[in-house]
Amino acid sequence: MAVPGVAIRGQRSLLKQIREALASGGPAQARLNVVVRIIARSMVAEVCSLYMRRAAGDIELFATEGLDPTAVHVTRMKPGEGLIGDIMRLGRPLNLADAPEHPAFSYRPETGEDPYHAFLGVPLLRGGRAIGVLVVQNRTERVYTDDEVEDLQIVAMVLAEMVASGELISTDELKGVELAPHRPERVKGSKFSDGLAYGVAVLHERPMAPSQLLSEDVVAEEARLKTAVEGLQSQIDSMLEGQAGLVDASYEVLESYRMFAHSNSWTRSLEDAVRNGLTAEAAVERVRSEHRARLGQARDPYIRERLHDLEDLNDRLLRHLSGAGHVARELPDNAILIGRNLGPADLLEYDRTKLRGLLLEEGSAASHAAIVARALDIPCVGRLSGLRDRVSEGDMVIVDAETGEAYLRPRNDVVKAIQARIDVRRQRRAEFAKLRETPAFTRDGAKITLLMNAGLDVDLDIMGETGAEGIGLFRTEFQFMVAEEMPRLNAQTALYARVMEAAGDLPVTFRTLDLGGDKVLPYLEAEREDNPALGWRAIRMGLDRPALLRMQLRALIAAARGRPLRIMFPLVANVDEFRAARALVDHEVAWAVRRGRAAPERLDVGAMIEAPSLIWHLDALLPMTDFVSVGTNDLMQYLFAADRGNPRVSDRYDPLSPPALRALEQIQRACAETGTPVSVCGEMAGRPLEAFTLVALGFEALSMPPAGVGPVKRMVLSCDREAARRGVSALLKSSAGSVRNEIETLARKIYLAV
Ligand code: PEP
Ligand code: MG
Repeated sequence: MAVPGVAIRGQRSLLKQIREALASGGPAQARLNVVVRIIARSMVAEVCSLYMRRAAGDIELFATEGLDPTAVHVTRMKPGEGLIGDIMRLGRPLNLADAPEHPAFSYRPETGEDPYHAFLGVPLLRGGRAIGVLVVQNRTERVYTDDEVEDLQIVAMVLAEMVASGELISTDELKGVELAPHRPERVKGSKFSDGLAYGVAVLHERPMAPSQLLSEDVVAEEARLKTAVEGLQSQIDSMLEGQAGLVDASYEVLESYRMFAHSNSWTRSLEDAVRNGLTAEAAVERVRSEHRARLGQARDPYIRERLHDLEDLNDRLLRHLSGAGHVARELPDNAILIGRNLGPADLLEYDRTKLRGLLLEEGSAASHAAIVARALDIPCVGRLSGLRDRVSEGDMVIVDAETGEAYLRPRNDVVKAIQARIDVRRQRRAEFAKLRETPAFTRDGAKITLLMNAGLDVDLDIMGETGAEGIGLFRTEFQFMVAEEMPRLNAQTALYARVMEAAGDLPVTFRTLDLGGDKVLPYLEAEREDNPALGWRAIRMGLDRPALLRMQLRALIAAARGRPLRIMFPLVANVDEFRAARALVDHEVAWAVRRGRAAPERLDVGAMIEAPSLIWHLDALLPMTDFVSVGTNDLMQYLFAADRGNPRVSDRYDPLSPPALRALEQIQRACAETGTPVSVCGEMAGRPLEAFTLVALGFEALSMPPAGVGPVKRMVLSCDREAARRGVSALLKSSAGSVRNEIETLARKIYLAV
């Protein structure tokens, strides 16, 4: 008798035999029977059986070599039942010397399995889900070697892909086999970019086609893997030593990357898989899906974090394998992109005319993908736990970014309800579009300037559509956040010049880099801070690292080429900071002039009012500034001591409350008294009821996300400012924690459109 574990080393020929058997055609059952026979022979096992999960959840014997053939399609297990159920549930192999002794063993007389003791079962994994189980059994009591386990897992991976691609069993015959989840599901996540969309799921990380699984030349493939792993290891090592300039995670995360990247068990699993005939990419996927199945169910946040690190590491390794380039994908109409988390440039590579929505398993509202999704006006919901294992390419899905939910394979009534909401949104948009050219005057004749917030190239396309009268806040850090590496002077100058050109005669206020806090750069080393929002961020970083700030000022002055220029500094907390920052501007203008370049024809330098400290020093600040802009996102965060990025506290305090409104009123009054132009540029300015309140407080310039311009203009056109002023002034004296309801009632009384 051949020694088990020796014959199997010819794994590649086993996979080849399987493929040849399949290619020979014939009825599906006959082909499956041949496949299990080949595996049994190759593994020197007396039994080889394949079990698949039926849509109803039962697990059914689909083919066997060695057990009683009459049990095929007869023997069924309930989910979680028996050893097979255990393997499905846990997503990992079970290797037993004496299976009948195992407490989970469930005896099935019809199979005739009495004489068999040794048992090795491995799951057929797709993504992180088990769709079936492949089992080998032997009469003798023995534990299968690690190599044998690995080998059977590789066969199972190839089978899983073949089944799923329809290569192994025809689609008709597959009916009722649960290759992927099929029931409607609703998953709760977080809103990243507002809107609604219904369409067809497209997986950003696509499962591999069976044709890409097997390598032609094992030796060459081993060398490819070795080079990629070494490249990855040395990249991570130099990141840790701080040499790469590409530090894209905290030290702890990098440490755990290094631990995994150098871990023998990880690299050995990869090498084994390649030695057995898989391509290096397929090897990565195999090891990845095993980890996902194993760790994905863990509740422990620490383990989940490590899984996340491992996923990142796998992605990195795939990038090392593919070199730099990858090809842009064709999308179907109404595509909803599904991914774990998208990198800086990923979203921009898809055809925007077909992309309707985005669903992410991870991410945060401040992540790259979310920023770009908002700029492109693509609805996006993130933090959808287990998403990729719950949805398959081609499933119909709904992105409900109004509530922060995803519906997978929704029922018809849900689709109808969503379609109705999408139609309402569309109609409202059409109404707003009609108002595009109408100037925003209140009914009693006050002109309100409506501006837009922007930060990326793609924002410029939308500007014309919104009818905004300029850009009141250009967040320059977005260019830095979506880039793979630090944008150089030329790249910065080019972007600012494009923005100015696109805006034409309309004003653009460029805010200098507002980094730190939740805005971290992948390539800039940052110290971990206990309170990042109160930490080294925005102008503080700019003044401590003047080279960075000066490079940006230089780029702005160069881009202006003598045209008017507006520059604004974020998170000024003390007048000396503004003085110092302004001195840098003067310095850079003088530098440009010395080199014979044009100084801006008009230069306005302003401060954002985001730190409450400034409210009590406006008498000193305002005379130094050419304008100010109130950043209500941060101002509210600091006024109420509530982290704006933490959903538990961010909505706990209402900006429509006496303390917040009094603060705003005080700023507005001081600006009016000194004749300092003032705008409000936080998200608050883009919500009609809040914007109404700001108008009532006397603010005449509001800068907001593009989608806010239409609704706010409709509000302005129907608003009587004087009546609003009287009503809101009275509410400032209220002793209530929030006056939102009262303001709403007031708004209804004096105009109709909020
Ligand atoms: C703000 O804080 O209100 C603001 C407009 O700036 P950002 O949201 O970019 O911090
Ligand atoms: Mg801010």
